[in-house]
Amino acid sequence: MSPVLHVGIDDTDSPRMGCTTYIAALLVDELTNLGCTFVDYPNLVRLNPNVPWKTRGNGAVCLRFACDEEKISSAMRTIVVIVKRNSDLAHKRTDPAVACLRGEVPAGITAFSKKVIRSVAAVREAEKTAKKFKISCISLKGRRGIIGAIAAIGETLQGDHTYELIAYRTPQTRSSPRKVDPESVLRMDRETRPLTFNNIDPETGRILVTPRGRDPILYGIRGENPDIVLRGHGIVKANEDVERWVIFRTNHGTDDHLSQVPSVAEALPHRPAVVTGKVSTMPHTIPGGHVIFELRDGSGAIDCAAYEPTGSFRDAVRKLVVGDLVEAYGGIRKGTKKYGHTLNLEKIKVMDLAQDIRFENPRCSKCGKRMESAGRRQGFRCRKCRIEDTTARKIPIAVERELALGMYLPPPRAHRHLTKPITRYGREK
Ligand code: ATP
Repeated sequence: MSPVLHVGIDDTDSPRMGCTTYIAALLVDELTNLGCTFVDYPNLVRLNPNVPWKTRGNGAVCLRFACDEEKISSAMRTIVVIVKRNSDLAHKRTDPAVACLRGEVPAGITAFSKKVIRSVAAVREAEKTAKKFKISCISLKGRRGIIGAIAAIGETLQGDHTYELIAYRTPQTRSSPRKVDPESVLRMDRETRPLTFNNIDPETGRILVTPRGRDPILYGIRGENPDIVLRGHGIVKANEDVERWVIFRTNHGTDDHLSQVPSVAEALPHRPAVVTGKVSTMPHTIPGGHVIFELRDGSGAIDCAAYEPTGSFRDAVRKLVVGDLVEAYGGIRKGTKKYGHTLNLEKIKVMDLAQDIRFENPRCSKCGKRMESAGRRQGFRCRKCRIEDTTARKIPIAVERELALGMYLPPPRAHRHLTKPITRYGREK
């Protein structure tokens, strides 16, 4: 039987050109022509979205295929040639890498992948993993790319996963605006939802299947299974040629990056985290429209931020009051001289509601109108009736809460690739 190879590829693109998924798409054809047999869909693995040195969505790919012994060296040569030809080698922050493992994926590589998806790993850890599990690594420039390339091999998507069909543009059209018919996307959304997700932003009507950058992607359709994304592709119309398309199996929309940290104090910068605590300051809106509140547990406190682009999500956040018990999901931004670390909210689960107590001035015993303060610790007075009551105190009133228990998410336009949308809850694999 032909041995199975797992080939991870990462860090090929830059903001000005390229896309690692496109390299995977080219290689699907090249390797098939060489006689290799794919044992899985190409995998598109999103890594920690909070690492500062990512280009865009911190994606890496893995191709898993059976290959006759005598063809392995020519398959590897082809892979390196295609990666080299399609990488932005001149860009200072691009460090393309290819990693190759033969045989089963050991649990030790999967554990390394989880670290790269949920935390920050060092090049020397990747090198140690490669040595321990006999992964051959080829770096075309610096070594950093091997972190993602090895992580792509180790995330075998045994748990929850989704699919994305990515259609690519021809080289002639790549610098012009994308010509995807918006009506056809609306129809695709109507006919395939909820088995596809994040096609359109319901709040703004914005089409989300088309990216905005100068990459070769025309559109990507995300969904629960290969059939539904293929059906979606059949409905979407474009007034430009599709050069090729590929269905990826991926950790998109699975919350793969989010794990509970034991306490607020252990929420470290550049990592995604789920932090449980009580709201300890009232949410307030700062210039720019961002909403901030403080979350506290026995170990300390952290600011949580719902940024302006999260739209209506901020309305839910504004309804929190001191004492509410919440789970905050998001990435930790490193503190500055002025502020501590901040958790940039991706979603929030309201687990228990505190009583919202507001204090009102007492009413006048004669006219029934609200009295005004007579000064600090001097009670209240009614100007109209000229009554003063030095013993009167503010009266606590329990205000009805407008917030229900449950999970709150920003609209899809503000989701990260990894964020599990509400429509996927209950559909986990
Ligand atoms: P894409 O545009 O394909 O979605 P990306 O381009 O945003 O992804 P890359 O260009 O691949 O990101 O750059 C990410 C770099 O960071 C790679 O070199 C990768 O090895 C490295 N990296 C990714 N995740 C981690 C992590 N958790 N710890 C350390 N390094 C990481």
